[in-house]
Amino acid sequence: MPARTGREVIDRLKNRPPTLWLDGELVEDPTSHPRTRNAVRSLAALYDLQHRDDLVEVMTVKSPSSGDSVGRSFVVPESKDDLRKRSAMHKVWADASLGHMGRSPDYMNVNVMAAGMASDYFAEADERFGENIKNYFEYVRENDLALTHALTNPQIDKSKQANELNDPYIALGLVEETAEGILVRGARMLATLPLSDEILIFPSTVIQGGEEMRPYALGFSLPNDTPGLRFQCREPLDQGRSHADHPLGSRFDELDAMVIFDDVIVPWNRVFLIRDIDRANQAYAQTGAVLHMAHQVVNLKIAKTEAILGTLQSVIDMIGTGNYPHVQEMVAEVIITLEIMKALKLASEEEATVNKYGVLTPARAPLDAARNYYPAVHKRLVEILQLCSSSGLIMVPSEADWEGDRGADIGKFLQGKNGSAEERLRLFRLAWDMTISSFGGRQALYEKFFFGDPVRMKHALYGIYDRSEYVDRVKKFLANNDWPEV
Ligand SMILES: Cc1cc2nc3c(=O)[nH]c(=O)nc-3n(C[C@H](O)[C@H](O)[C@H](O)COP(=O)(O)OP(=O)(O)OC[C@H]3O[C@@H](n4cnc5c(N)ncnc54)[C@H](O)[C@@H]3O)c2cc1C
Repeated sequence: MPARTGREVIDRLKNRPPTLWLDGELVEDPTSHPRTRNAVRSLAALYDLQHRDDLVEVMTVKSPSSGDSVGRSFVVPESKDDLRKRSAMHKVWADASLGHMGRSPDYMNVNVMAAGMASDYFAEADERFGENIKNYFEYVRENDLALTHALTNPQIDKSKQANELNDPYIALGLVEETAEGILVRGARMLATLPLSDEILIFPSTVIQGGEEMRPYALGFSLPNDTPGLRFQCREPLDQGRSHADHPLGSRFDELDAMVIFDDVIVPWNRVFLIRDIDRANQAYAQTGAVLHMAHQVVNLKIAKTEAILGTLQSVIDMIGTGNYPHVQEMVAEVIITLEIMKALKLASEEEATVNKYGVLTPARAPLDAARNYYPAVHKRLVEILQLCSSSGLIMVPSEADWEGDRGADIGKFLQGKNGSAEERLRLFRLAWDMTISSFGGRQALYEKFFFGDPVRMKHALYGIYDRSEYVDRVKKFLANNDWPEV
């Protein structure tokens, strides 16, 4: 099947809806539910971009198995040009949401690609698992499915291991192996984009301990309408307001959910790993999946920073503050952030190397730098937008106000230097949704945590970054009292 259209995405979600619980109710049809339908439309619109005449070359590639045009994020990169072209594809999807839809499906597509190509890694434990992950990559690519994922355990008592809690199946664990497959029970956090077709439980790095922790080492996938699998969603941020009032929240609330596995059977052909702690902990690194995902992310964060910069400059132009030196300095800070992210992206592509599974993999060091840097700097970008917008972020009467009886007041007193009141309010509403609305608040938290705990990510970087060459250079310098010779 070729790359899907938006209509096909909507039809599948309508016919096979994920089991979403939201505000105490089961969402029977996410494509028409008032709190989810806009996000579904935005998701569908991304897929439609794959078919736009001027983008089809950017967005799709020929499938090596079916010959169909499939999404470019499924490409197996062999050259730097492949990576650059994939970046262009990521950027088109990222720009469509101004970088505010964290989980456009290309994020998980590259995960599945890297894992599928590293099928030997899974086969070393069990040949069937290698076949399964290879077939799953093909299945997701050929059906152009949208995936969610959930890596962490519920936040109950982090001083205890999963098996030490009052119920060993609070965290998702393996109950037993059956003739049909594996029986799993428990919950995982935190699936962004539950408005999707399937969930991938990819083996992640969180397991510490010995024999007693083996049931928690798991890798598998399931359709999101599997009996016993349900998503408990957080409160939606799409409050049913117009695009003018909530320009981002009314379009891109991808939702986040706790995933509950209520005694779910995973068929054997969907099992990729069980009971193997070391293999689970190493899976992201060894398959290269984390680097392909980080490469998608750096493109997304470039798009987001460009959108923040564009909004910031528009605000400054709208209220005539561009001549103040400190305002210019703040804009320069955003420009520097943007250029650092672009440089890290380029470096990851230029320094890419072929991994042992034959996949050209973006370089780790620049991507590690990007994923540690951006969570720290994003809050400053938000602050700059706040500082430059000030009360303009709050004095944003709604569309109903400017179209209502007192619209003339708004037209007079809220006009901008270079635009009408309506233009000014539409712009400031966007800045508001990027910074201080509930949608903006969730974005701030997302940036801090979506790729993992920033504290532990820095510890990991400390652990793996080779700086022995620099230490040796300093040692040699200190030991050599004869230089310079005169
Ligand atoms: C908006 C949002 C979307 C997300 N989307 C996804 C998703 O789609 N898929 C997914 O799998 N995950 C997702 N995540 C979850 C994300 O992976 C986790 O939030 C992150 O790994 C941190 O885990 P935690 O939330 O359980 O925090 P905790 O681990 O409970 O951390 C809480 C605090 O305790 C500290 N802490 C806890 N344990 C330790 C430790 N062992 N060592 C040092 N410090 C510790 C942390 O530093 C932190 O300050 C998302 C998170 C957010 C906020």
